[in-house]
Amino acid sequence: MRPYIVAGNWKMHMDPESGRALASEIAGELRRQPSANGVQTVLCPPFLTLPAVHEAIAGSGIGLGAQNLYPQDSGAFTGEVGPGMLTAVGCTHVILGHSERRQYFNESDEFINAKARKALAHGLHPIVCIGETLEQRESGVTESVIDTQLRGALTGISPDDMRSIILAYEPIWAIGTGRTATPEQAQEVHVFIRTLLAELHGGEIAGDIVIQYGGSVKADNAAELFAQPDVDGGLIGGASLKADQFLAIIRAAEASA
Ligand code: PEP
Repeated sequence: MRPYIVAGNWKMHMDPESGRALASEIAGELRRQPSANGVQTVLCPPFLTLPAVHEAIAGSGIGLGAQNLYPQDSGAFTGEVGPGMLTAVGCTHVILGHSERRQYFNESDEFINAKARKALAHGLHPIVCIGETLEQRESGVTESVIDTQLRGALTGISPDDMRSIILAYEPIWAIGTGRTATPEQAQEVHVFIRTLLAELHGGEIAGDIVIQYGGSVKADNAAELFAQPDVDGGLIGGASLKADQFLAIIRAAEASA
């Protein structure tokens, strides 16, 4: 049975000091009352805050994720951060292909695929984000957009490595807007994704892959989203910056798991 995974994407928030404080609060509560039903938590702070968060979550069972990587081991790539540097500071996960990176940094499916392969080669779990714009949804091309993004991001990844991948369906119109997909809309796309995964890699692997939902998940809507059979947790932006809200979302996942 696949687990639920709740990941907090802190984006460009939280310097090392404030990140340490937030992570300590979340970790303290999860040490006091560990997650039930196999729910996993991952915190994804900015690069410079990773070491402080790594220290703060020690022994709590929380995973540590970066928000990006460059798909080379080392070299003359000024300003970039490679996968070995991430594992050296304790990362277990890395968010790839977030819509903000696709939109502001022109990341292509091909580039995201190179990053995913490099992450896997270093033992990191990629959290690969896919999702349509409002215009695409309204013109009825959501499925073809998801199809292209998914095939592009997963090209050449072996069945074994597929089990290390986490997918995050994040409709762009729901990210940071306060407008979330309805549970039915989320479930519909998650089923489409799982069916496509089955076509590409077989039903057993498709059934094991965690598909998170992301887009304005909050403490008060998490339970109904996570109750959907193919929604296996969430990638949380704004609500992951407040310990009480993020913990409530984790507890909602435990109740659905
Ligand atoms: C995100 O950044 O991945 C996200 C889902 O943000 P928010 O929860 O703020 O919509």
